[in-house]
Amino acid sequence: MQTSNYINGKWVSGDRNIPDVNPSDTREVIAEFSQADEAQVEEAISAASAAQPIWAGSGLEQRYNVLMSIGTALMDRSTELGELLCREEGKTLPEGKGEVYRAGQFFTYYAAEVLRQMGDICDSVRPGVEVQVARESVGVIGVITPWNFPTALPSWKIAPAIAYGNAVVWKPANLTPASAVALMEIIADQDLPGGLVNMVMGAGRSVGEAIITSKGIHAITFTGSLATGRRIAEAAAVNLTKVQMEMGSKNPLVVLDDADLDTAVSCAVNGAFGSTGQKCTASSRIIVTKGIHDQFVEAMRKSMEKLVVGHALDEKTNIGPVVDAGQLEQNLHYLEVGKQEGAELVCGGEQLELGSPGYYMNPALFINGNNAMQINTDEIFGPLTCVLKAEGYEEALAMANDTEFGLTSSVITRSLSKAEHFKKHSKTGCVMINLPTSGTDYHVPFGGRKNSSYGSREQGQYAAEFYTQVKTVYVKA
Ligand code: NAD
Repeated sequence: MQTSNYINGKWVSGDRNIPDVNPSDTREVIAEFSQADEAQVEEAISAASAAQPIWAGSGLEQRYNVLMSIGTALMDRSTELGELLCREEGKTLPEGKGEVYRAGQFFTYYAAEVLRQMGDICDSVRPGVEVQVARESVGVIGVITPWNFPTALPSWKIAPAIAYGNAVVWKPANLTPASAVALMEIIADQDLPGGLVNMVMGAGRSVGEAIITSKGIHAITFTGSLATGRRIAEAAAVNLTKVQMEMGSKNPLVVLDDADLDTAVSCAVNGAFGSTGQKCTASSRIIVTKGIHDQFVEAMRKSMEKLVVGHALDEKTNIGPVVDAGQLEQNLHYLEVGKQEGAELVCGGEQLELGSPGYYMNPALFINGNNAMQINTDEIFGPLTCVLKAEGYEEALAMANDTEFGLTSSVITRSLSKAEHFKKHSKTGCVMINLPTSGTDYHVPFGGRKNSSYGSREQGQYAAEFYTQVKTVYVKA
């Protein structure tokens, strides 16, 4: 594929190509994808800037139709595009298909939101004057996305951006270009002004930097690592660009003595190892009170024995490969760090040689760790988790909150009062009760606290805060 950038309504090539390699079978190159250069980013921003007022002035029905059509196409094609996603990212088939279907739901949800845009009217404090408060579009939105949800994540940003009348310049991650092109193709098929949604592929240090430092970008929405987030906040401060960011986490799953053991184990295994642990909502610390600790560890070990690691497209596979060689190396590094720090490896952690050459590893479970260990402070982003023993509920809660991050947390308990207390005192943006730390809905806000998030919330009606700006009008008739 030579023409994988979409600029001003046209597919164009870039200055060089990069291969898209299947992590389940590194002999397979899915396709070659071209990299845009900085001049092409400028072209995309100018095109977006020209298209945006046309789109903002189009009728709401037009916007509704476009968003519904994109959403329906994604849902209709979730099997085909889900398989493509699995091939380049390593998710299992149900995860890949589910992600594409979910991406469609973001568009159909925001199609409905298009028709729900309302303002406020009130009397002025001055007699005979009326005050109107309305939301207007922001302009050109820079959308920068990671590889771990290559279809759903850009969808939950692009759908509200265009629903509220904005234009988009999107930079997807280089590890998952095929899913990005597939989504862009569906958007490009719609009745949109040329240049309204642009996609530029490339590295963060070139294409990404060109977006975040441009004065033509009015708002930046980013999801990715904390280090990149800090750089983006810095660049946004220079131009005073509106910015919203979702970053890493170290999500705690708290299991209390009175927990239902099966629920606790299934939440832990699902939350820690779903999507090969490559989720910002993964349960990377499992904090278990001492009365149930040993029983829980044994039940979790048994449950992990049944997990099948394999080729993403094999129906028997529960855990696909990690995304690339760099991520595998990082996981194996943290495995050694955990051992050196004195945590005990109960099972897993081996790199696996399977039928095809890929980045496979057995999910790993550490115990006897403490919250200060690097394996419990750093976001690892792989199938590794650690059980931490707590004396009781109060200590478990304190440990759960003792982290620089704050995206999601979960408590497994039969006690209503403990669940209520946890809900109020957990310092995360999303709290789950008797559910895994991962797995969120598409119609309600999503985001974290502390170093996990910056700026206003994504998703649901709360997204309007970022994708619109408020205008207050005073009218004297
Ligand atoms: P990353 O920060 O390396 O890259 C994310 C995106 O930023 C990529 O498109 C990358 O090219 C771009 N980028 C890198 N440097 C840039 C720069 N200087 N300027 C502009 N853009 C730049 O993250 P990743 O490895 O792709 O993704 C994994 C991370 O994403 C994890 O930390 C994970 O927790 C996080 N994540 C968070 C959420 C959430 O909602 N909180 C969801 C998914 C992933």
